Amino acid sequence: MLEKLMEQAEKEHRLDKDSLVRLLGEPEAEEALAAAADRVRKKFVGDGIHLRGLIEFSNICRRNCMYCGLRRDNGKLERYRLTEEEILAMAEQAKEYGYKTVVLQSGEDAYFDVPRLTRILRAVRNLDLAITLSIGERSYEEYKAFREAGADRFLLRLETTDAALYEALDPGMSYENRVRCLRDLKDLGYEVGTGTLVGLPGQSLASIAEDILFYKKIDADMLGIGPLIPNGDTPLGGAAPGDFHLTRRMVSLLRLLLPEANIPATTAVETMVRGGREIILASGANVVMPNVTEGEYRRKYALYPGKVCVRDTPADCRGCMERRIQAMGRYIAEGKGFRIRRKDHVRGEICQGDPAV
Ligand code: SAM
Ligand code: SF4
Repeated sequence: MLEKLMEQAEKEHRLDKDSLVRLLGEPEAEEALAAAADRVRKKFVGDGIHLRGLIEFSNICRRNCMYCGLRRDNGKLERYRLTEEEILAMAEQAKEYGYKTVVLQSGEDAYFDVPRLTRILRAVRNLDLAITLSIGERSYEEYKAFREAGADRFLLRLETTDAALYEALDPGMSYENRVRCLRDLKDLGYEVGTGTLVGLPGQSLASIAEDILFYKKIDADMLGIGPLIPNGDTPLGGAAPGDFHLTRRMVSLLRLLLPEANIPATTAVETMVRGGREIILASGANVVMPNVTEGEYRRKYALYPGKVCVRDTPADCRGCMERRIQAMGRYIAEGKGFRIRRKDHVRGEICQGDPAV
């Protein structure tokens, strides 16, 4: 029975909610699921692994997400904000190391308004780097200005499709607005990345199954899945950590259902299990986002404790990733790593009237 479901997922790239719940909850299916996802990964996106250089340019945040060390009420965090010159210097450095894409990530920091951020985007764009933004919720007009200034992609995790859970854990934020942002980003022609925080207290397998169906419905271009790592300086400090194996099964199912997507092996999986990144790369993932943030800032961008590589330099990260990728028999992909459409996929739509939305 489980074999039949996996066969269907591998051949037809679809499963219903009940089947997803069964596979998500079945540790015994994990290896076979990973093997099927690895075959689909090879067929649709190949053996190349895309590296995106991550620049964490501000840890100042107006939000108060219950799990995140950057939340505004965390008085223990030393805050920083990079200057435009520093951001550009890190992007130049990333280019020298051979990265073709940079990810500019921050808390929700209003200091980076349209004039400031578009200036930065244009300068980075002039380096012939593809740009991914990950800066949280903004208005349609702001997203439009950033797109016109050169941003190609945007990462905005939905975290969970359970609207009540979302709103309880991200106080003051609305699920509806999160979905509005994703819709606007798609409309504006960004490649859109979203994803789930696995292990939120109260999250069910049924809601994770809904997450997968929702990402398929909106035809997400990128999917970032990570386990919750409790941070003692947040209200969820005492929560149980997210399950690495459930995270892995979710990644594999996403590869099976969204075969063309770019799926990173996230820092959080490596933080939770040493060598976890390779396991996830062999279970459907095809992207890694090495940190190119310099010096002290890396340590201060403290979403959760134990974040790997905080003492490494960007050169260490690049060299280490290259060795690890070669050891897996894979290689670093050339090019900017945009999504490649293998056939005429109908672009997903986010329908406000849908119960999953
Ligand atoms: N502020 C932007 C946003 O929220 O979209 C971008 C940066 S935010 C730090 C990036 C992601 O970090 C969030 O989407 C969340 O899933 C993840 N994150 C935050 N705290 C975490 C924790 N304790 N464990 C694992 N992941 C966490
Ligand atoms: Fe801010 Fe993002 Fe952390 Fe929420 S997850 S507190 S928006 S940095």
